[in-house]
Amino acid sequence: MANYETQIVVIAGGPSGLSAAVQAAEDGAEVILLEKAAAVGGAANMGMGPLGIGTRYQKQQMIEISVEKAFNMFMEYTHYNVDARLVKRYFEQSAETIEWLEDMGVEFEGAYRYFPKSEATWHIVKTDQGIGPRAASFMNRALYARAQELGVKVLLETAARKIVMEEGKVAGVLGTDKDGNEIEIACKAAIICTGGAGCNKDFIKEETGYIHGVDMFNFAIPGIMGDGLKMAWEAGADHLPVRIEQAANIEGIDDLPGSVANVMGQPNLLVNTHGKRVMNEEHMQNTTFLSNVCSHQKDRVCFSLVDSSIVKYYMRNGVDHVCLVRPDPDVSDFAEGVKMAQENGNEGLFIADSIEELAEKAGIDVDTLADTVEEYNDFCDSVDEEFFKNKKYLRPLIKAPFYGARIRPGGYGTVGGIRINENCEACDKDFEPVTGLYAAGADACNIYDDSYMFLLPGNSMGFAVNTGRIAGMSAAEFVED
Ligand SMILES: Cc1cc2nc3c(=O)[nH]c(=O)nc-3n(C[C@H](O)[C@H](O)[C@H](O)COP(=O)(O)OP(=O)(O)OC[C@H]3O[C@@H](n4cnc5c(N)ncnc54)[C@H](O)[C@@H]3O)c2cc1C
Repeated sequence: MANYETQIVVIAGGPSGLSAAVQAAEDGAEVILLEKAAAVGGAANMGMGPLGIGTRYQKQQMIEISVEKAFNMFMEYTHYNVDARLVKRYFEQSAETIEWLEDMGVEFEGAYRYFPKSEATWHIVKTDQGIGPRAASFMNRALYARAQELGVKVLLETAARKIVMEEGKVAGVLGTDKDGNEIEIACKAAIICTGGAGCNKDFIKEETGYIHGVDMFNFAIPGIMGDGLKMAWEAGADHLPVRIEQAANIEGIDDLPGSVANVMGQPNLLVNTHGKRVMNEEHMQNTTFLSNVCSHQKDRVCFSLVDSSIVKYYMRNGVDHVCLVRPDPDVSDFAEGVKMAQENGNEGLFIADSIEELAEKAGIDVDTLADTVEEYNDFCDSVDEEFFKNKKYLRPLIKAPFYGARIRPGGYGTVGGIRINENCEACDKDFEPVTGLYAAGADACNIYDDSYMFLLPGNSMGFAVNTGRIAGMSAAEFVED
């Protein structure tokens, strides 16, 4: 067994862990960071950037958003079912965190909305290839470089296994290195940042009831197995509900051509297996809302339906809702894309020469869907009496071939599980801090239940970076005493 000694062990090197390590080291603490994977960054290597409120980008772009406005929006959105002190501290710190990141070399494209009705709080990281997925890996790289500059000892391919507690206080962390050797690090404080349990099907089923790959399709980043949650609970932290961070997905989206994902994600007619409409489709763009809607249907599934005239409209005029994650608006290869995806084994896409045939192929009630389409087509000539959809999105389904895509609940991973307070101290059932134990990021993200607050985008990575910093500050202060 290899033995080390330090003041603070940070468990994991995603954005929360990296931020915790950098902040603690900047505050003068000696830090060792353990990361299970061969590289740092975690799930955030796939994302685009964190939330910031009241930043210089927003001022330059004349975007009116203040901590007060965001805080009030957030409290209403969560029905006040949240730790207001933690939310306030996180939002209040978020603008300074953007500057903190810039000081270590991170550049931002600016502040963006996720969709028109959201606020422009999403600070997309600048890359060498413009705006797009994985931009935040540039941020993680800068955090890692800063951690190394500050002397943080980073052990890659080294998984933490257990928090050693002595007399109710953190006394060390046990882990396993890349050669399978046991390591023990004596320390006064540990910060848990392992990103939830998005890759652990059994854990997800037990904690949330969803079956990954059957009625829910979340991103399952390898290695994110709930290790930190289990370690924290074992060390005495309170076990709060673990949720799926809801964001709906078109079934098999990872293998779909961009044009298919783009068209099927538009505010098209959306029905359930009964053939009934389920929402005002103009809100589909908020994929959390869409995911919740899908979760409430039989078999947790909905269907986005278009006809050839609607596809032609999108080709000619562009799609209604532009998505920065899939920024290419060209959908001219849609029909070929659907066929190609089907040939590649996608069973969630359907093509038919009539609405009845489409219903049969997709497993939707045939008669009801025919009635629904007839009624919807009538609304397109007048108003949507059913769900009040804006007229500009109402287009009739009249021309074959007709297309359908299954939409499922999905998620970025899991959120929540470890009770923390506004100082990111892990707390027990009596709300008392477990001495020396801290948590940040997805493991401790109990602030919006399962309904990711897309109205303030960047909220997930923003929470990770900011709670990481808060945990780092608190732990550094604790070990100094
Ligand atoms: C496709 C995608 C796009 C996204 N885009 C955005 C976005 O643009 N903006 C936004 O706000 N959010 C976004 N998110 C969500 C965001 O990435 C997460 O909220 C954020 O990464 C959580 O940070 P974290 O540090 O808590 O965990 P993670 O980033 O998940 O990192 C956890 C780390 O823990 C390590 N680990 C696990 N177990 C152990 C162990 N036992 N010992 C040591 N290490 C361990 C893992 O290897 C991993 O590196 C996106 C997520 C996905 C999947």
